[in-house]
Amino acid sequence: MTGMMLGGMILGAILLWFSHRYAWWRPVVNWQRPRILMYHMVQPHRAGAKFNGLRVTPERFEAQVRWLREQGFSFYTMSELWAQWDRLPERAVAITFDDGYADNLHYALPILERYNAKATIYVVVDRHDRDWSTYKKAHHNSGELARETKLSDEEIRQLVASGRVEIGSHTLTHCNLRTTPEGAKRHELLASREQLEALTGKPVRSFAYPFGIYSADDVRLARETGYETAVTTIEGIDELMPRPEPLDLKRVKVSGKDNQLAFVMKMRGGRRGWSK
Ligand SMILES: [Zn+2]
Repeated sequence: MTGMMLGGMILGAILLWFSHRYAWWRPVVNWQRPRILMYHMVQPHRAGAKFNGLRVTPERFEAQVRWLREQGFSFYTMSELWAQWDRLPERAVAITFDDGYADNLHYALPILERYNAKATIYVVVDRHDRDWSTYKKAHHNSGELARETKLSDEEIRQLVASGRVEIGSHTLTHCNLRTTPEGAKRHELLASREQLEALTGKPVRSFAYPFGIYSADDVRLARETGYETAVTTIEGIDELMPRPEPLDLKRVKVSGKDNQLAFVMKMRGGRRGWSK
């Protein structure tokens, strides 16, 4: 009797955990609405590292891209996605990477090539030896992200030459837009766009707000400084119609802690669990 009760409690606890983790109860968001995925690094996890949540292992990234391909997704860069928003097929996806880590070339690009996929990388212009984890929270001072190797200019040109990668801006210094004065903000947005255009020889019209911190004024500023789309860290999947504000787009966050089931559930529902 007590054994059965205990068994029931354990089963109940497992079901609760499963529901919390995978949000199977969340309704499927219409597959006509495009998914914009947010990544940072694609590389093996480091023992004891603080930011492994930002590291999707190459094995998992490959399984995710393979799943997208097998499920019939069409891959777009952010500029392509917005340009074709009115006539996107069902199951459109834009893979995006923030910051500009070197592994985006070394680990992610070969996988994108293997599955004929595309991506957009939001590069910080002045990215070397910079520790943006400390700007938001001072206690994040491990230096881990500063030590992480970033893309060199030459590597950025290689990515562009692959024909699979669009380069977007993530400002000059990964500044916190909430605490940066107006004039400096304008410079961060405008000069980063111009410098990345000079580096790549391509128009730069896509932007990602550093830390996902921004205001209505920053949306206006991004438009004024020449951007067509900007992505946030708000989790979810935007409406197809009416067209969303293109400088305030939601993303599906892919974490280094997501297994394949968690990834699939996020693709269905836009986000996981009870969070937000
Ligand atoms: Zn960032």
